[in-house]
Parts: sequence; C-alpha cells; structure tokens
Amino acid sequence: MKIMKNNPLLKDFDNKYGIPPFEEIKIEHYLPAFKESIERHKIEINEIIKNTKKPDFENVLNAMEMSGSDLNKVSRVFYNLLSADSSDELNKIASEISPVLSRHNDEIILNQKLFSKIKVVYEQRDNLDSEQRRLTEVTYKAFKSKGSLLDEANRKKLQYFNEELSTLSLKFNQNVLKETNNFNLVIDSESDLDGLPDDLIHFAKEQAIDAGMDDMWVFKPTRENLYPFLTSSLNRDLREQLYKGYLNRGKNSNSENNEELVKRMAKLRKNKANLLGYDSHADLALDDTMAENKENVFSLLDAVWDPAINRANEEISEMQKIIQREGNNFKLEAWDWWHYSEKLRKEKYDFSEAEIKPYLSLKNIRLAAFKTAERLFEISFHKIQDHPKYHEDLEGYEVLDQNKQLIGIFFTDYFARPSKQGGAWMTSYRDQSKNNGDVLPMIINVCNFPKPKKGEPTLLNLEHAITLFHEFGHALHGLLSNVTYPSLSGTSVPRDYVEFPSQMMENWIRSPEVLFEFATHYETGEKISEELMSKYIASQKFNQGFATTEYLAASYLDLAWHTEDKDVDDINEFERKLFDKKGLPYEIDSRYESTYFSHIFAGGYSSSYYSYMWSEVLDSSAFEGFEKNGLFNKDLGKKLKELVYSSGNSKDLMSQFKKFNGSEPNPLRLLKKRGLA
Ligand SMILES: [Zn+2]
Repeated sequence: MKIMKNNPLLKDFDNKYGIPPFEEIKIEHYLPAFKESIERHKIEINEIIKNTKKPDFENVLNAMEMSGSDLNKVSRVFYNLLSADSSDELNKIASEISPVLSRHNDEIILNQKLFSKIKVVYEQRDNLDSEQRRLTEVTYKAFKSKGSLLDEANRKKLQYFNEELSTLSLKFNQNVLKETNNFNLVIDSESDLDGLPDDLIHFAKEQAIDAGMDDMWVFKPTRENLYPFLTSSLNRDLREQLYKGYLNRGKNSNSENNEELVKRMAKLRKNKANLLGYDSHADLALDDTMAENKENVFSLLDAVWDPAINRANEEISEMQKIIQREGNNFKLEAWDWWHYSEKLRKEKYDFSEAEIKPYLSLKNIRLAAFKTAERLFEISFHKIQDHPKYHEDLEGYEVLDQNKQLIGIFFTDYFARPSKQGGAWMTSYRDQSKNNGDVLPMIINVCNFPKPKKGEPTLLNLEHAITLFHEFGHALHGLLSNVTYPSLSGTSVPRDYVEFPSQMMENWIRSPEVLFEFATHYETGEKISEELMSKYIASQKFNQGFATTEYLAASYLDLAWHTEDKDVDDINEFERKLFDKKGLPYEIDSRYESTYFSHIFAGGYSSSYYSYMWSEVLDSSAFEGFEKNGLFNKDLGKKLKELVYSSGNSKDLMSQFKKFNGSEPNPLRLLKKRGLA
C-alpha cells in the first residue's frame, strides 16, 4: 500500500505544466502502477455497465472517454521511454505487461453488456451534436470490426483466427530475421571492395569478425548494407549476389521459408473478413479509412501508374546509354539500378551533401520550422529553462497562441543514442481534450540526428531537415488540436490521413523561399547560393520514376493478397502474373516481395501500404494554394489550421479536406511534384 501511495506515476504530476516527474520515477514503480491503474479502469467500466439509467451519450460514451485516465497516464510515460530511452529492465516490463494490457483491452471490446449500451446510443445518434455523433460512430465501428456483433460461437471462431494470425505474423518476422542473418556475402580479396565507402568497409569488417571470419569482409542483405553496396561497388557480379540474397529472403531453407505462411495468413484473413460480413480483408481494413473502399484506392494507384512507368522507362534508357558509353554491352538489370542511377545523378545534379550541410544547422532548421508555424498559425515557441528530464537532450517549449495563452507543451529529443530506437517519431504524453476540463496537449518529437562533439554545431543533411519538418507537422497536429473528446484528438485519425499534416509541413522546407531565408552558413552567416539551391530543388525530382514504380508495385501486391478470391498456389507465379498484367518494367522489382513484406504480414499495414501515397496526394493538392497565393498566406493558414490541424478526427475527413482544397484531392499535383507530369 505504501508503494501505491508514494508511486509518482499514480500521483498528480503537480509541477507547473504537469510534466511527468521523470527523475522520481523508478523501474520498480511501473508494474504496480500498471496493475493498480488497470484495476481502477475495470471498476470504471463496470460502473458504466451496472448503471441502471437508460443508456445515453453521457453515461456510456462520455463515461468511457473519462475512464482509464490513470492507465493512460502510466502507459504514456512507459511506452514513450521504452522507445526513447530504453533499458533491459524496461524491455522486461514490456514483455510482462503487453499481454496483460491486450487482454484487458479485449475484455472491454468483447464485453457484450457494454456493447449493447453503445448500440442503443448508436441507434439514436441523430439526436447528438456532430462531434458526439462522430465519436459514437467511430466507437461503434471499432467494436464491430473486432467482432462485437457476432454470436458467441462465431466470436470464439474469430478469436481462434486472431490467435493464429498473431502467431503467424510473429513467425513471419522471425523468419525474415533468420534468413537475413543466414546470408553472408563473403569477400576475401581487397580488390573486390573497390568503390565501396570506408564506413561500409569498416562495417563489413565488424560483421566478419562477429561471424568469426577475421580475415574477410561480410555483407548482409539489409537495406543498410545493400543500398550503399549496390550504389558503389565496382564488381557487378557481387552486386547481383547481394541483391539476390536480399530478394530471396523467406524463400530459402525449409524451416524459415515464409511461402506457406503467407498463403495461410491470406486465407485466414479472408475467412475472418467473411465472418465479420465483408467480402475480403481489403474491404474490412478499408472500412474506417478516408479512402473508404478498394475502388477508390485502385483509382488513385492507377492514375499514377502509367506516368510512373513512362518516366521509369526514360530513366532506364538514360542509364542504358551510360552502360553503352562505358563500352559495356549488357542490358540493365534490377541490381544495376542503384549503381547507374548514381552515375546519372552525378551527371545531372553535380552537388554533394557535404556542400549543402554547412547551411543546414539544426539551429537554422528548427528556427525555420518554428517560424513557419508562427506565420501560418499565429503560435509561438518559448524555451522552458527548467523542467523534469529523463535525459539531458530533452528540451521543452511552451506553445502560445496570438493572445499569449498557453496551448500546449512541445518537447524535442533530437540526438541518437544507444538507448533510443531507430527512426524518428512523434508521440504524446497527454492528448488535448475538453470533456473533463481543458486538457492541454504535451507532444514530443524524437529523432536520431548525429550528436556533434561538445562545442560544435549540429549540421543536418537534407533528409534530416525534411524529417525534422515532417515530425514537426505531426507535432502541430497534436498541439493545435481543438476537440472535445480525447479519442478524436490530434493524430487519432485513420492511417491514410495521418501522414497528411506531417507531409504537408515538408513542403515548406522543400521550398526555395524558405531555404533561402533560413539556410545560412553556420560559420560565415552567408546565405546559400542560388545555384546550389536550384540544383537541390531539381534533384528532388530525380529517379522518381523508379521510386514511384517500386512503391506502387508493392501497393498492388498488398491489395492483390487481400482481394484475391481463390487460394494462391504458387507465390512466384502469383507475383509474376500480377506484375505482368500491370506491365511492371523488367528492370524494376516491387519494393518488397511477399516473403519479406513485413509491413503487410507482420506490421499492421495490410491493405494499407497505399496510405503513404494517399496522404501525398492530399498534401500536394493542398499545398498548391500556398504556391499560388504565397507560402505564408494568412487566410490559407487560418483555413489550414481550422480544417486540418485542429479538427483531429472530430469531423468527416474527406469533407474537411474538400472544404480546404475547394475540390477533391487531385493526383495530378503529386505527379507534378514528383516530376512525372
Ligand atoms: Zn509520419
């Protein structure tokens, strides 16, 4: 009992901004806090069920929204730190608590008494205000897609499908990992390293030592090894070997072969969809998305497909010319692409990252991001000098509106360290809501920028600068949120919409105007030269035929698996037939092949791989107005804030978009942005 009372996770975070008291939270606090807060949540849900009054929005939906606040608080702290500043102890707790949490959630979502109350409110939703109605519909759909409408026998069946699917997807990932580990491209002669960059050679040496082959160099079929190797190696045979090693993962040994597994998963997903009343898994998965159905998704992909392969064919012939010019007589193959596209890039856009980096200090780019938000949305960022921290790199900002009122807290944790997961992301410690008093959002951006030596400035490359703006866009989606109910707040939107506000922000750092204003040399203060800038802008359209085609091929493959009526017999034949039918150029492979397509077989993107492009159509359409009327046009900024960044999932997303854009999203803008039209 003493532990509970003094457990900082279960007390109010009573410092000025309600920031979690990171320094006080110890490893031993988590499990008791989880257990206690799960119990509290159960009691709250039980009270909703036991309530004898006639079910209405307040005593069912709003009561559910208010429940579980302690559990939410504990989970936010824990899962944020698990990715941003992990340890063996935290990982151990995660594997202990994750199944407990998923059981707890299942118990709620499959509770028939609770669902019958939701159903009563759902059937009378026409009397509610628009946000309440939206919440009721979203909640009802979520319960329904988990099987709440089924009778007990069918719920059992569904549970059986879910369990087998989750076992299989775990196995899928393990197999990919093992097959990646099993393959070694071993090089024993120094001359075979010709062309490779030093850091890759160094890496290959370490991998060789790990494998007990001290005198050699070992390359693995991972993206980190593969792309620089394919780009730089001067040995075409070796390029082919490593490429094929990558491509054949999940197709080799018997025990780690993913072919049967993929077929079984597709079948189970179809059965599950049928049980829930859908024709296919794609129909089920797309039901709560902005795209709404597979026809809409196909019509987007098809609109981009022909321009993409046309451009790709031009790229192929440009590279073939280089091959010929170099006195070779072979036909460009898939594994040649990276090598010859790099040669083509050097010919066309002769600049290196090193030239542009001195202009892209973290200080400059962060200022550019803050100023962009200030001009568009009339908000400002002010550094908080002293606040709780889990690591010295954590920085906090007050976010104020035009009346100097606090609207949220923004944290950044920008530098790479061993305790941090790879990649970059936005999450929250607290979501904005108003159903239980004004709750202000507390948002964080976590990145993996290389940390400079003490006293030296952080210089970013282009990709980092774009990442900073991308994650900042997600952050604004959380910070500007202005809705009533937490479940509809900020980034709680469908997957094919969530990347829109983030990719939208990228447009500003990709613009010459912003770059010219903020990209100044970290030593001399000089502005970036027009020449360098225009090369950079032009280079953004380079190789887009290839990038678009390989992405679309993977999106088609994803949908093919999840709309196919018949059982698939032979995976290779299934893929070949699909790509032949689409006319995929011989020189390009799908970005992922079925046996290592973890996004769709182990990562929650099944039938959703198209989402990235869907969001890109939205952002390139929406940015057109700013290009025409001024990058910081006040009226457009106001509209963008109201219709996109502040409305979360409280309104129908397509109609919000159309209100902003004046028309349906148009793929033509994306084609132009990528240089395909
Ligand atoms: Zn994103």
